Amino acid sequence: MTLTGSHLIAGRESAPHGHFYHGVNPATSAKLEPAYADASSNEADEALAAAEGAFDALRLATPETRAALLDAIADEIMALGEPLLERAHAETGLPMARVTGERGRAVGQCKLFAALIRDGSWADARIDHAIPDRQPLPKPDVRRVMMPIGPVVVFGASNFPFAIGVVGTDTVCALVAGCPVVVKGHPAHPGTCEMLGRAVVKALQKVGLPAGSFSLLHGKGTEIGMALVKHPLTQAVGFTGSLRGGRALMDAAAERDHPIPVYAEMGSINPVFVLPGALKERASKIAEGYIGSVTMGVGQFCTNPAIVLGLKGTELKQFVSNAAAHATKVAPQSMLHRGICEAYDAGTAVWRTIDGLELAGQSAAEAKDEATQAACRIFTTTLDVLEANEELRREVFGPCSIITECPTLDDMLRFANSLEGQLTAMIHGTEQDLIDYAPLLRVLEKKVGRLIFNAFATGIEVCPSMHHGGPYPAASHSHFTSIGTASIYRWVRPVCYQGFPDSALPEPLQGKNARQAMRLVDGALTRDDA
Ligand code: NAP
Repeated sequence: MTLTGSHLIAGRESAPHGHFYHGVNPATSAKLEPAYADASSNEADEALAAAEGAFDALRLATPETRAALLDAIADEIMALGEPLLERAHAETGLPMARVTGERGRAVGQCKLFAALIRDGSWADARIDHAIPDRQPLPKPDVRRVMMPIGPVVVFGASNFPFAIGVVGTDTVCALVAGCPVVVKGHPAHPGTCEMLGRAVVKALQKVGLPAGSFSLLHGKGTEIGMALVKHPLTQAVGFTGSLRGGRALMDAAAERDHPIPVYAEMGSINPVFVLPGALKERASKIAEGYIGSVTMGVGQFCTNPAIVLGLKGTELKQFVSNAAAHATKVAPQSMLHRGICEAYDAGTAVWRTIDGLELAGQSAAEAKDEATQAACRIFTTTLDVLEANEELRREVFGPCSIITECPTLDDMLRFANSLEGQLTAMIHGTEQDLIDYAPLLRVLEKKVGRLIFNAFATGIEVCPSMHHGGPYPAASHSHFTSIGTASIYRWVRPVCYQGFPDSALPEPLQGKNARQAMRLVDGALTRDDA
């Protein structure tokens, strides 16, 4: 495929103009062709007007057609073949094995949402039949179902070019729900964005859905993203990235005449509590798994375990030395882009100025600056130092982590109580530890979106039960997930019909349960006709 740098607006190519930028290979610092440029506010207008124009056709298309769109997107992604993987690898520095695996996840997500929409139960149809002779008042016929909200703006993340990007969860579940999508491409991998955007354009043509259902606008800097969030036709925003970026978009959306939701997933420090039983039983194994998790994807995961807490003692000391030994063996790797690498080095350099924080171990090999590499760095400290220094409790994106000695369980609990909202927390222990330390679990339930026992949070399973979110500042709305099939609920809202004849109701609410979806009829779940 020849890349042109064009914005893709409702199937029309709009040549780049104005302020140009390029993708850059972080491993070589080589500039990658072609040039991309910031979309203008006119282009944002055009994309959103087309999205609004496509909304009725998309939402009223049959579930089979929308499912076929996702199948077609999956096919078009695969049809891009090796050149897509090579471009993503060049633009992100992520190894070929990783980008290949992530492409599999993106294609799998398309299939999962296609199956969801074909089954139909996701629409949460509820039917309460009328009881005209109820005393003292008759009960009306009331029915409720989820409906798509309209044009959605999606910001992809730098660290998941496929699974949280142009064809990531946000985009595919919005399209399948019936919401047109305008994607703001990530400037760190614009060529990958263009290839994937062209795949979506082709898929729309293939299934005969309106071209306005999808646009891709490139841009570097805040202007075009802000214009999209403030645009009066935008109904909701999906974002994965930094707290600073997510918060700016949330504030802009709240200031609109008609505020709209911004579903932002903004990262986390993901504390790990290593309880005494586990330390006694398998300190070395946990340490190995921990370093594997800290360094997975060069630490560029929002589920990276940034802080470990354990009770002071010889076993924790052994754990620190095991972790340090594993850290030395980790080869430095290229990060996604120079900005992230510089932020990592600056963040850990600030940590090193803090009294009471020690470097326990780091990659033996030196990181090559020209290859935008980061070395693994594992620190150790005490709870009073962690509590006294706010910067140690802020996410530093990259392969670093701090192991913290807690004097007593009460101290550990106090720290857990002081945590801000987190995406995840991990507990390593025995079943007996969970009984002995039950109060810790009770505190963490209030703080996080996902609790993990005897494993690490990196490597998210995409499934119906997954929750990837959490209380602010991990995410903007703790109720919603950005990964897994439940993420579709960000793009729909309930609409209630009272007293309508069967023939005028949307299909999921009619008496005949055409697709045998699970529905709540008069208070009972059933796949039968109502
Ligand atoms: P980011 O800087 O927050 O950017 C994400 C997207 O949002 C980009 O397209 C960016 O555009 C746009 N954006 C950011 N701030 C904006 C603003 N104020 N107004 C309008 N648009 C805005 O995230 P990133 O590039 O993926 O990585 C940078 C940092 O984010 C990392 O160092 C890490 O701390 C964090 N991060 C978190 C996660 C996570 O899963 N939560 C994932 C990746 C990164 P421009 O780049 O063009 O400004």
